[in-house]
Amino acid sequence: MNDFDIKYEILDYAKYNKRLLDICSNPNNKFQVIKQQDLGKSRCGFPIEHYTIGNGPKHIVYMGGAHGNEIISVDFVSQLMNNIALGKGTFEDFDPNEFTIDFIPCQNPEGYFTTTYALNSVMNDMSPQEIEAFSKRYYLAYKSDDINSMAVNACIRTVCNENGLSELSSKLIKLFWKTYLNKDFSLRDVEDFLIANTKINGMTVSETVRNVWQQRKLDPDLVIPKDKMHHKIFDNISIDCIPEIDDAHIKLKESLRKIYANNDFPIATLANFFSNSAGVNLNDNNEFYFETQKRQVAEEGIVYANLRDNNLAKSIPGPVGSASVDLNGEFVSEPENEALYEFLARQDESSENYAFINCHGTGGVIYLYPVADDDLEQAHDTGVERNFSFYINNRIATEYVKETGRAYEDVKGVNDPYKHMGYPDKITGVGDVLRKKYIASFLLELSKAGGNPIAPYCDYKGNYVPTMFANMRACSKMMQTIRSLSYLYDTNYTMHYENGRVVYGTTSRR
Ligand SMILES: [Zn+2]
Repeated sequence: MNDFDIKYEILDYAKYNKRLLDICSNPNNKFQVIKQQDLGKSRCGFPIEHYTIGNGPKHIVYMGGAHGNEIISVDFVSQLMNNIALGKGTFEDFDPNEFTIDFIPCQNPEGYFTTTYALNSVMNDMSPQEIEAFSKRYYLAYKSDDINSMAVNACIRTVCNENGLSELSSKLIKLFWKTYLNKDFSLRDVEDFLIANTKINGMTVSETVRNVWQQRKLDPDLVIPKDKMHHKIFDNISIDCIPEIDDAHIKLKESLRKIYANNDFPIATLANFFSNSAGVNLNDNNEFYFETQKRQVAEEGIVYANLRDNNLAKSIPGPVGSASVDLNGEFVSEPENEALYEFLARQDESSENYAFINCHGTGGVIYLYPVADDDLEQAHDTGVERNFSFYINNRIATEYVKETGRAYEDVKGVNDPYKHMGYPDKITGVGDVLRKKYIASFLLELSKAGGNPIAPYCDYKGNYVPTMFANMRACSKMMQTIRSLSYLYDTNYTMHYENGRVVYGTTSRR
């Protein structure tokens, strides 16, 4: 049951196309893979591809690559497709008459191909062992960048909290990183910054800062370099890693040149490119977050990303990406998102959508939307009609994470399940908007080892294989769960009160 076929490679444009072609034309396929009409095109003209396996009425959609740098998601969705087609492992008893699995391997081909071309300009000839070692180096560099940023933030926060200035701390954290943008700094600089900006006496500041540093076992003489260590690893890459093999590639290269023309971003970010070629972050590209970002810009000027990326501007088009092409203009929804919305709306209209899994890179977390409507007053007053989305979401996600736990136990000896997201009702990204809108829509953060794009590859046996394996098994589990719940997809329940007693009924949902 655990006999999945798992490959280990970094897929650039050529390798991605080859993998998908190989999957479609594999004579060993037990279930046919059909390449459907593209869902749309990116600005530069890269297709947003769509494949299916099965002809059943219950559709489950798997999408990867919303963030171009989260390459494990494209890898996973394509490998899932391969394993279902071959009827490998738990997919042995896949029922193509009951289910159709829709695959959108890469929603954001521009960001994905930018990232993987850049990676492959360094990693192309590496053996699997070399890929693993190199990814480990990256993982550690990425982690150090986070550790350093978190330690500085903790110093600022602790000094503020201990001196009755806690409301100042997040403002000072932002100001600190802006002040030290592109500058090396030491612990002494952190102290001087705090003394100058809080007017607290030097002895107190110094003692607190040095304590925080010590608790975190950091060297007090550490000089934190202006260049992030995870960027330094890709210092030598250039936009020329994109070959001009067709019109789409030529346009992509032109767009990237524009983004990097003013030296606003380290060139190394080509290898960690979240956005599309317009420099827009597809998950942030929704009206809700657009308004939030505009508010932030009005309050604080340029808005930067967090921790290891706190030197990268988010409020202008770039590698991390803004919420829209121009924050001063009207909101523009990007073509990759429009293609997805149209596809999901079509499925919803024909009552085909049983689950949508929006795969992202790192976290080992599933985001769900199990929040019941707060309509009790109305229930007492006039009665209400409710659907079972809350229950369906909750059941699928709960069984999903449990199965990941069992899969980890099988491969690693420890039951270590994925987590549910902490605030399931919080809406900021496109993934959240979709989770709220559709019946069983999830955002899945794949690899437990953090550090896009390549940290998920840093430990083949300990992280990469378990990631693939656990999520494939959980996919089978999801099909079982959907089978047991399927009648609820078509049902609503009603409730009203009569003489103080609740009266329940059912009605058709679709
Ligand atoms: Zn993401």
